[in-house]
Amino acid sequence: MHRNVDESVLKDVAKFEGVDVEFLLRGLSSGRIILFGNVKRSFVKPVAIGEGLFTKVNVNIGTSGTVVDLGMEVKKARVAVDFGADTIMDLSTGGNLDEIRRTLIEASKPLPFGTVPTYQAWIEGVARFGTAIPSDYFISVVERQLRDGVDFMTIHAGVSRELALKAVRGSRLMPSVSRGGTMLAVWMLENASENPYLKHWDYLLELFREYNAVISLGDALRPGTIFDAHDELQIAELVNNARLARDAISKGVQVMIEGPGHMTMDRVVADIKLEKSLSGGVPYYVLGPLVTDAAVGYDHIATAIGAAIAAAAGADLICYLTPSEHLSLPNVEQVKEGLIAAKIAAHAGDLVKLGPRAAKSDAEISIARAKLDWSKQIELAPDPGRALAMRTQFEGNLKSCTMCGQYCVFLLLEKYLKSRKETTLNELMNKLEVSRSYVL
Ligand code: SF4
Repeated sequence: MHRNVDESVLKDVAKFEGVDVEFLLRGLSSGRIILFGNVKRSFVKPVAIGEGLFTKVNVNIGTSGTVVDLGMEVKKARVAVDFGADTIMDLSTGGNLDEIRRTLIEASKPLPFGTVPTYQAWIEGVARFGTAIPSDYFISVVERQLRDGVDFMTIHAGVSRELALKAVRGSRLMPSVSRGGTMLAVWMLENASENPYLKHWDYLLELFREYNAVISLGDALRPGTIFDAHDELQIAELVNNARLARDAISKGVQVMIEGPGHMTMDRVVADIKLEKSLSGGVPYYVLGPLVTDAAVGYDHIATAIGAAIAAAAGADLICYLTPSEHLSLPNVEQVKEGLIAAKIAAHAGDLVKLGPRAAKSDAEISIARAKLDWSKQIELAPDPGRALAMRTQFEGNLKSCTMCGQYCVFLLLEKYLKSRKETTLNELMNKLEVSRSYVL
């Protein structure tokens, strides 16, 4: 059961989502909906994720071992806030990690903020103990980050030592592509020890309950290529994560499960259904999925295709990817591009998942388009500045645009359209409801 939430917060969230408060409460108590908000944060936008709600988008930022530019990471956080991210995660692995996290929490306000504590535990732990990091050191880093107000953390508790062994000895093309998951796998194998998060699972639950933070069960064994998708390792970890999620919910801890990874389009719907079925509807946080490995330089598109299918099938939170995925740490512009691609994917999925409830902006833009109302179209664009630059790149004062010029269909039909009754938002949304009833 979720910690008591302020009634006004519930009302605001319900209004934004277009559901009633009772629906939210039922979702929160069953674990099908989560609501971010570490008790240490003085103000965090109440973002809910889960069944029957809009699909949300997460943006990853953070330094690397080779590029440590906190000023750039702060700019990325601001771009993410300005262009509509729902959550931000700090994946920093270079520089002063405590200072970076605290700075980025501030820069990401008011959005819920996540981390992968394994990175810091591994980096600091190796410096102090070599690979013989004491298992409770991993937990002490979790505690430190919770005290800073982190709202959700990736915890790779589903990858057991047995699975890590199978991954390195097995036939996968890429045994593990998760950074945190690989650190843990190496630690388990080097120390002949079980996963530290599993070992200290009950204490971990106490901590997350105390801070009202969300455990995001990591997918250490997610496929890193379409050729490893839906193999024994991925499914075994998902089964473990589903079991751990149910345990966490039964003990009053909010939880979501992380998912793939790379897989072809025909596998995506089955993947979402499997997670929902195994876990009893626990929110699913998907990375992509990337539907091809061959989109180097355009992985934000490969992932948006998978994300749209995933959202339509019931995925709840989408992790964006940038065009520089697999090539480089992204710059600020690439963060913006990746975020916008992921938001379009989430919205396209919601048009199927939620129907007319999600279609207001589509109806508004369709009406503006039919009326050649350029200022409205630009205002409603994901990036109005970019839309305006394109609109005016050859000639900005035409009634139509430069694509067809005087042969614009709306100009050709103008006198007939004028005599037609004005189309309203409601009419368009009802039309979508009718067309949905044929496909659902
Ligand atoms: S000119 Fe062509 S592309 Fe441009 S608004 Fe008219 S019909 Fe559309």
